[in-house]
Amino acid sequence: MLVLTELTKNFGGFRAVDHCSFSVAEGTITGLIGPNGAGKTTLFNLIAGALSPDSGTVAFLGEDISHLRPHRRFARGLVRTFQIPHEFHRLTVLENLMVAADHQDGERLWENWLAWKRVTRREDEVRARAEDTLAFLGLTHLAGERAGNLSGGQKKLLELGRTMMTDPKLVLLDEPAAGVNRTLLREVEEKILRLNRERGFTFLLVEHDMAFIEKLCDPVICMAEGRVLVEGDFETVRRNPHVLEAYLGESTA
Ligand code: ADP
Ligand code: MG
Repeated sequence: MLVLTELTKNFGGFRAVDHCSFSVAEGTITGLIGPNGAGKTTLFNLIAGALSPDSGTVAFLGEDISHLRPHRRFARGLVRTFQIPHEFHRLTVLENLMVAADHQDGERLWENWLAWKRVTRREDEVRARAEDTLAFLGLTHLAGERAGNLSGGQKKLLELGRTMMTDPKLVLLDEPAAGVNRTLLREVEEKILRLNRERGFTFLLVEHDMAFIEKLCDPVICMAEGRVLVEGDFETVRRNPHVLEAYLGESTA
């Protein structure tokens, strides 16, 4: 689904991503780990289009998208979670989901004048989808709550819901476990698994919580100093001495 070939990104004289190559197979939840400064976030920016590579290519569904603008990648189903604007605090949970769908549609103002019937029908459809999404997430009881009043974990669930509303194919998740309490973390895990198994979403996720990675991700890719160090199932990566070394390097630094 996603093929990165020899991606390189320099910041001045510093090489943050260094001839990095790997693939994400359709249907997987691929985990990306590595010590701080390994280049994970820079890599996400290259995949989503927030940054352009100095060399190398990003291919998505068989096409070279290295030079596509971020919104074009988004329109093809390559969605980075925080690419969708953060939740609107004063809108309700339900409204937040509905707005996420419209964002994708690129709905234009004149439609409201020329085709109000169609727009109304569309709004009903979007509302029905938003209600389904809430039921899937177990957030129906919060439909009318202002998003600003949700807990950290509930906001993560809402963020997943907003992603669902855009019909993604590949979802890039940046630290989905960060700031989520244990109970809600189980729920976030379960929802990601179900989105993968039942709805066919492919995920590439960066996470520091190793229990989370172990439970969800296969394969796991470990980066260090801008390159892929090891790739394999969780146990293979965990047992690899270079991985330990890379993390120890981080803690001594
Ligand atoms: P990770 O997400 O794995 O912690 P990053 O991709 O954020 O790593 O950073 C990789 C390296 O690139 C770090 O040393 C970081 O300081 C550097 N870096 C990241 N973004 C920039 C930037 N915009 N300008 C200069 N250096 C940067
Ligand atoms: Mg980072």
